[in-house]
Amino acid sequence: MSIMVPSKTPALITPGQQALDSALHQLGHAAEHLGLDDGLRTMLATPRRSLTVSVPVRREDGRMDVVQGFRVQHNVSRGPAKGGIRFHPSTDIHEVTALAMWMTWKCALVGIPYGGAKGGVSVDPAALTTRELERLTRRYVNEILPLIGPEKDIPAPDVGTDEQTMAWIMDTYSVNAGYSVPGVVTGKPMTLGGSLGRAGATSRGVQIAALAALGRSPDGVTVAVQGFGKVGALAAQYLADVGCKVVAVSDVRGAIYSPTGLDIADLRAHSAETGSVYGYRHADAMSHADLFELDVDLLVPAALEGVITEENAPRVRARLIVEGANGPTTPEADEILAASGTTVVPDILANAGGVIVSYLEWVQNMQAFSWSAAEVEMKLRDLMQSAYGEVKSLAAEKGLTLRQAAHLIGVGRVAEAHQMRGLYP
Ligand code: NAD
Repeated sequence: MSIMVPSKTPALITPGQQALDSALHQLGHAAEHLGLDDGLRTMLATPRRSLTVSVPVRREDGRMDVVQGFRVQHNVSRGPAKGGIRFHPSTDIHEVTALAMWMTWKCALVGIPYGGAKGGVSVDPAALTTRELERLTRRYVNEILPLIGPEKDIPAPDVGTDEQTMAWIMDTYSVNAGYSVPGVVTGKPMTLGGSLGRAGATSRGVQIAALAALGRSPDGVTVAVQGFGKVGALAAQYLADVGCKVVAVSDVRGAIYSPTGLDIADLRAHSAETGSVYGYRHADAMSHADLFELDVDLLVPAALEGVITEENAPRVRARLIVEGANGPTTPEADEILAASGTTVVPDILANAGGVIVSYLEWVQNMQAFSWSAAEVEMKLRDLMQSAYGEVKSLAAEKGLTLRQAAHLIGVGRVAEAHQMRGLYP
């Protein structure tokens, strides 16, 4: 039996289903190369636990709204499940399943002892007040409480959630436990057991991956970044810090462009003040679509899935794409980019810095200990560079793309864990 991708009318495919199709396609390729048997392939293609919950929220005017929430543990064969929580209106069970699967391969690829998970709530956080958001977060956590815990499943921030969300999760879990449990989430504020270096970890990892893939001085390398949130803004900053010229960035409201290069620190201040990069006075407005087609050396998608597709891939001019986001490139686009000689550093490698430092935060919490920023950064750098080196040499040895090689390593390690453990009963 092969891995089944459910057939559906194209017009009805949601972005979440598209993401899951991509994840299953990538798994299928790795499973084929590894010669995995049908039973194991099916095991790896299906989540171990998948929970859908209804989350009632009391609005400020007294009304009650009910939104859907999810937590998916894709695989726990190598350790506790680990993965972020996303608040976004289009989040559905398919998207959360795909993101959980990518977490499994990512943790295995960078050699940290976790399985993969993801959570989500179908809601627009920008449409809620802070108090509504807090009530929503606490009720969602209460609904998924049986699944999470420092030895079972450890959430973290993702799109639409942040340190404050993690603090509410830690508090809700701790109140239920009757004592403080900092290790139940990562990406916490420093005062609650957060780790130095966690806030910028994903972006630092993107910078490390980009510099490794460039293989030359970053001085004057032109960059476009899609998404200016937790990952994109600091990725732009860290790339600018080493001499790259970031000429375009975007967020959900729009894209901006300056051929002479943007002052990223100033732009971050503008975005913090106004809520968007749009309207920044030292740059011109451009369309979202045009950002992907700019004549730049490096393109960093750092927003959502499925943005580089068979439709726009032929017009991508960047020779290097480093995926800050999860799942930004569809399998069809991957083929087009590979044929045109574009190097894609895949999500499960390029954005692994976040889960690496989440792991370091959890280790510190479990030991009630803390490391300096320099120690955290050194460990992050070591793990990122050694994973990059492994992927690069396997790709060269077997004539694979970096994504195919990364999946071969990640999927292979999880398959090996299953084989060693055997099947119970
Ligand atoms: P975020 O919510 O902090 O930022 C998302 C950004 O994307 C915002 O600037 C938003 O305006 C922008 N955006 C949304 N839709 C857009 C569109 N259509 N065009 C342009 N911009 C758009 O989220 P984040 O934590 O930065 O996550 C971004 C991506 O990175 C996601 O794919 C996430 O899964 C991935 N990721 C995040 C982490 C982490 O540590 N936060 C770790 C690994 C991977």
